[in-house]
Amino acid sequence: MDSIDTEILVIGGGSTGTGILRDAALRGFKALLVDRGDLASGTTGRYHGLLHSGGRYVVSDPVSARECREENAILRKIAADCIEDTGGLFVVTDDDDPAYAHQFVAGCKVAGIGFSEMPLAEVLRREPRLNPRISQAFWVPDAAIDSWKTVWANARDAQAHGGAVLTYRKVTSLLREGSTVNGAIVENTRTGEETTIHADFTINASGAWAGQIAAMAGISVNVLSGKGIMIAMNHRLTQMVINRCKYPTDGDILVPIRTVCVIGTTDAHVADPDEWAIEDHEIQFMLDEGEKLIPGFRQARALRVWGGVRPLYQPHGEAITETREVTRTYTLLDHPTSDGLQNFITMTGGKFTTYRQMAEVTMDAVCRYLKTQRACTTATQTLPDSEDQHYYWLGTRLANREANLHDDQLICECELITRNRLIASFDQRDAPDLDDVRRAMRLGMGPCQGGFCVLRAAGLLHATGKDSIQATNQHLLNFLEERWRGVQPLLWGDQLRQMQLDRLIFEDILDVEHLPSPDNRAT
Ligand SMILES: Cc1cc2nc3c(=O)[nH]c(=O)nc-3n(C[C@H](O)[C@H](O)[C@H](O)COP(=O)(O)OP(=O)(O)OC[C@H]3O[C@@H](n4cnc5c(N)ncnc54)[C@H](O)[C@@H]3O)c2cc1C
Repeated sequence: MDSIDTEILVIGGGSTGTGILRDAALRGFKALLVDRGDLASGTTGRYHGLLHSGGRYVVSDPVSARECREENAILRKIAADCIEDTGGLFVVTDDDDPAYAHQFVAGCKVAGIGFSEMPLAEVLRREPRLNPRISQAFWVPDAAIDSWKTVWANARDAQAHGGAVLTYRKVTSLLREGSTVNGAIVENTRTGEETTIHADFTINASGAWAGQIAAMAGISVNVLSGKGIMIAMNHRLTQMVINRCKYPTDGDILVPIRTVCVIGTTDAHVADPDEWAIEDHEIQFMLDEGEKLIPGFRQARALRVWGGVRPLYQPHGEAITETREVTRTYTLLDHPTSDGLQNFITMTGGKFTTYRQMAEVTMDAVCRYLKTQRACTTATQTLPDSEDQHYYWLGTRLANREANLHDDQLICECELITRNRLIASFDQRDAPDLDDVRRAMRLGMGPCQGGFCVLRAAGLLHATGKDSIQATNQHLLNFLEERWRGVQPLLWGDQLRQMQLDRLIFEDILDVEHLPSPDNRAT
C-alpha cells in the first residue's frame, strides 16, 4: 500500500475543505486534501448560489446574519471574480405579513447590514417582471457567487503555496493509536488502490457526511442532513436576488446566476445524505411560490431541478427539531477537549458564504494544538483571477467569443464554450470526466442540457488519447444519465420538446444504449 506523510490532512473538498486547505497552505503547513469525488461534488456544487448579505437571518438567526455580513464584505474583496454584484431585494407580497418588515428593519440595524427601502416605482422599473402588488421593498448587498469558481480558486491558490489535492479518494478508515488520530486510509474510487496517509492533524470537513467520518474515529457527531431542492429557469427573470420579506421558509428566494435564475429552496430532514429523492409536490410548491414573486412564472421554461443536503449540527441531547429551525451558524467540534481524542477536529454547519471564516477558526484551533503561531492571511490575500477586484460580468464569455469568432469553434452554444478551452480543460486533468468538466466550465448546462454539445465534447475527449473508445462512451452515457435525472421531473412544454429532440439524437440516431462501453459488455 502506498503511503504519504503530511502535516495537515483535510477530509472533504467542498467550500469548507478547500477553504481550510488554502488557509493551511498560506500559513506554511504541508497540507493535503482528499475527497471521495471531484472538488465541489457535494453540497457546495449543488447549492443556491447566493452570497448572503445576512438579511435572510436577521430575525431567525442573528449570529448567522452577522457572520454572513462580515464574510460578504471580505469575499467581495478577495473573490471578486467569482461574484456577480446583483444586489438583492426583500419584498413584501400580498401573501406576507407586513409586520415582519418592521422586525426585518430592526434586525438589519442590529446586525449592521446596510439596507435601504426602495421606492416601488424604482423597484418595478429595475425589475419589470416582479409582482406589481408588492407593498414594500428593501435593498441589501446580496449577490450571486459561483461555487465552482470559488472552490477551484481556493484549490489553485493552495496548490501554488504547496498544498495538495487528491480527488476520487474516499476515506475508508481513520488511523487511530490509543487516543490519537494519525491520519486516514483512502481508497481510489476509480482503481480501488489504497493509500495510507499519515498526518500530524486531521480535519473533518466532510459536510453532511461529518458524522460518518467521526464514527470512524469511534466518536459520535450529530450532523443532520437538511435536503433542499432548487429549480433553474431558462432566463434571468430578474436581475437582482429577490427574497420574500418574511421568516425564512420554503421557496422564498430567486437568485439570478449566469444565464439562468434559480428558485429555491426546501428544507427536509433526510436520514442519509446519499439517499433521498425529489418529490413532485416539492417542485409544484417551488413553482407556486415563484408565481407569487413573478406573475406567469409557471409559463417560463423550467430547465432542471436538483437538490443538496445541508450539514446542520445538532448537539446531542437536543431533541431533533425541524431542520429549518436548526441554526445556520458553524460549529467547531474540538475533539481533543470534548472527546479526549487528540489531533482531530470537525468543522461543520455554516453557509457557503461563511466558508473562509470557518477555515480561519479551524486553522487557529489547529495552530493552538500544534503550539505554533501563524497568522491567517486569507481575509486580505486575493484569490487567483480576483487580483484586480473586478466583479464577474455576465457578458464576459460573449465578449471573449466575439474576439475569436474565426479562430475557434464553438462546442457548447448555450454556454459559449470553445474547442480550445474545452481541450485545455481536458489537458489539465489526468483522467478527464465529462461531468467534472461540466462543473468546471458549465458544459451542457443550458437549455439543451447537453443535447447538442456533449457528443462533440465526447469526440474531443477521445481525441486527447487519454481514454479508450469504450471509456469515452461510458463518460458520455454517465453524463446523459446525470442530465436526465434533473430534467425528467420537469417534462412539459418546451423542455419536453427539447428532450424529445435530445432523445432522437442520442437514441434513434446514435443508438447510445448499444455503444461499446465497460457497462455494456454484451455489445
Ligand atoms: C439546497 C441548499 C441551498 C443552499 N444555498 C446556499 C446559498 O445560496 N448560499 C450559501 O451561502 N449557502 C447555501 N447553502 C449552504 C452551503 O451550500 C453549505 O453550507 C456548504 O456548501 C457546505 O460545504 P461543505 O464543504 O461543508 O460540504 P460539502 O460541499 O458537502 O463537502 C463535503 C465533501 O466531503 C466529501 N466526503 C464525504 N464523505 C467522504 C469520505 N468518506 N471521504 C472523502 N470525502 C468525503 C464529499 O464528497 C463532499 O465533497 C445551501 C445548502 C443547500 C442544501
